[in-house]
Amino acid sequence: MNTDKFYITAALPYANENPHIGHAILFLYTDVMARYQRMLGKDVYFVTGTDEHGQKMFRSAKEHGLPVEDYCSEKSAVFQNLADQWNITNDDFIRTTENRHIEAAQKFWLAAVESGDIYKKKYTGLYCVGCEAYKTEKDLVGGKCPDHQKEPEVLEEENYFFRLSKYQEPLELLYEQQPEFVYPQNRYNEMHNILKNGLEDISVSRSTDKLTWGVPVPNDPTQVMYVWFDALTNYITALGYGSTNDTLFNKYWPADAHVVGKEINRFHSLLWPAMLMSAGLELPKMIAAHGWITIDGQKMSKSVGNVIDPLKMSSDYPIDAVRYFFMRELPFDSDGDYSEDKFIARYNGDLANGIGNLTNRIVVMIEKYCAGTVPEVKNIDHEMIDYLKEKIWPAYEENMAKFRFDKALESVWAFITHCDQKISDVQPWAMAKDGKTDEVNDLLYHLAESLRQIAVMIWPIMPEAAERILGQLGVDAGEEFAKPLSTLKNWVELTVGKKISEPEILFPRL
Ligand SMILES: [Zn+2]
Repeated sequence: MNTDKFYITAALPYANENPHIGHAILFLYTDVMARYQRMLGKDVYFVTGTDEHGQKMFRSAKEHGLPVEDYCSEKSAVFQNLADQWNITNDDFIRTTENRHIEAAQKFWLAAVESGDIYKKKYTGLYCVGCEAYKTEKDLVGGKCPDHQKEPEVLEEENYFFRLSKYQEPLELLYEQQPEFVYPQNRYNEMHNILKNGLEDISVSRSTDKLTWGVPVPNDPTQVMYVWFDALTNYITALGYGSTNDTLFNKYWPADAHVVGKEINRFHSLLWPAMLMSAGLELPKMIAAHGWITIDGQKMSKSVGNVIDPLKMSSDYPIDAVRYFFMRELPFDSDGDYSEDKFIARYNGDLANGIGNLTNRIVVMIEKYCAGTVPEVKNIDHEMIDYLKEKIWPAYEENMAKFRFDKALESVWAFITHCDQKISDVQPWAMAKDGKTDEVNDLLYHLAESLRQIAVMIWPIMPEAAERILGQLGVDAGEEFAKPLSTLKNWVELTVGKKISEPEILFPRL
C-alpha cells in the first residue's frame, strides 16, 4: 500500500439551488486538510463536484422553466465558481451527470448484482423529497420529516432493493475494530446507535413512471438508480473505477477521508461501506463528519431570511479572513455560530491587530534597524525556540491531523501573542537608541524566523496571507512550500543577510 498518498473528498453538494455557507464550509474543511497533508509531503488527491440527479433536481429545473440538463450545468458552474473564489484546491470536480460517472456507477451496480445484493420488490413507503429518502414512522416528528418540516409522500412502486441487512454483522465488526472509521467520537456514537437498532434493506431505484432523471439501471429500462446509490459512487468513479483508465483508482483508493456534513453521515458511514463490501472493494479509512453553522444563534433558513451567501462573503471580504473566521470559530465536533459582529471582531482583533500588526512591526523594524536585511545572530534565545518547538508545533500538528483547525490556530495565536509580548518587554527601539546593536539584531533575527514559521503554520488556512508574509521576508513561497514540513519547522531556515521587502498592510482594519 502507498502510505505517501492521501485521498480526500468533500461530499458532493446537491446542486438544485445556489450554494449556502454550509457547502462552502464543507469545501473549506476538506481543503485545509488537503493543504496540510500536502505540506506534510503527501501525494494528495482531492475530489469534489456536484450531485445532480433525482426528483428534487428535476422539480427545481421545472420551477425555473429550464431543461434539466441546462439547469444542472448552470448550478454546477456556480459551485465550481465557489470552489475557485474560496481558494479550494480540488484536483477534480466530478458531476454525476457526466458519462464517466454514469458508466462507472452502472458497473458498480452490476458488481452488487453479481454479489446477489440487488433484488426487485413491491413497496409502499413514505418518501421525503427533501431528503430523497424513504422514511419510517419513527423517523417522523408529528408526521413530518424533522429536517424539512414536510409530510412525506406515500409512494407505491416496484423497485430494486439493496440487501443492507446482509451487512449488519460485517458493519458491527467494522465499528468494533475500527472506531476511527467514523470521526469524531460523537458522530461515531450516533452511527453506532443506528447500527445497533438494526439495518433494513433499502430501495435503490425508482420507476421511470415517477422519475426519469437518474442513472439508468443496467438491463432494465423501467428503472433509474436512487440518487444516493448513484452519487456515493462518485468517490471511485472520479478515480476511473470500472473504466479502461483506472490508474488513479489503483493509486489512490481507498480514500483516507471522506469529509461530510453530519446530516448525511448515515449514508456515508452505514450505506457506503456496505455498498463497497458488496462490490468487493476496500473501505475508506475515515468518514469525517462536521457540525453545522447557526447564524446569530439561529438555524439558517430561507423563511427566517438569515441565509448567508458564501459568494457574497468572498467578494465582500478578503477570502483569507473568511477562511480564518470559520476555521477558528467552528470546532469540527460541534456546531458553531456566525454573526457579522463576531466576524468583524475576529478580523480586527486577530488579523488586523494580531498577525497583521506583528508582521508589520517586525518588517518595519528590520528596515529601520538592520538596513532591511535579515540580521546576524550572536545569542540564541533558547527559551523562545524551545517554546515554539516543544509547545506550539506539537499542539499545532496534533490538532491539524484531527481536523481541529480551531485549536491549531489557537496555538499559532498563542505564539503571536508571545512574540508581541517579547517586543513590548525588550523594547528594541530603546536598545537601538542606546547603541545595543547586537541585542537588537538578536531579537529581530528571532522575530523574523518566528514570523516565517507562523506563515508556514497558517498556510493551510490562509494561503494568501502566508505567501504575502513570506514575500515580505524575502522568501519565495513556491520554493518554501516545495520543502516538507519536517524542514520548514526547523529553526534557522531564513538566510542571514537576505534582503527583505517593503512592509505592506496584510489586513486593513474594518
Ligand atoms: Zn426530509
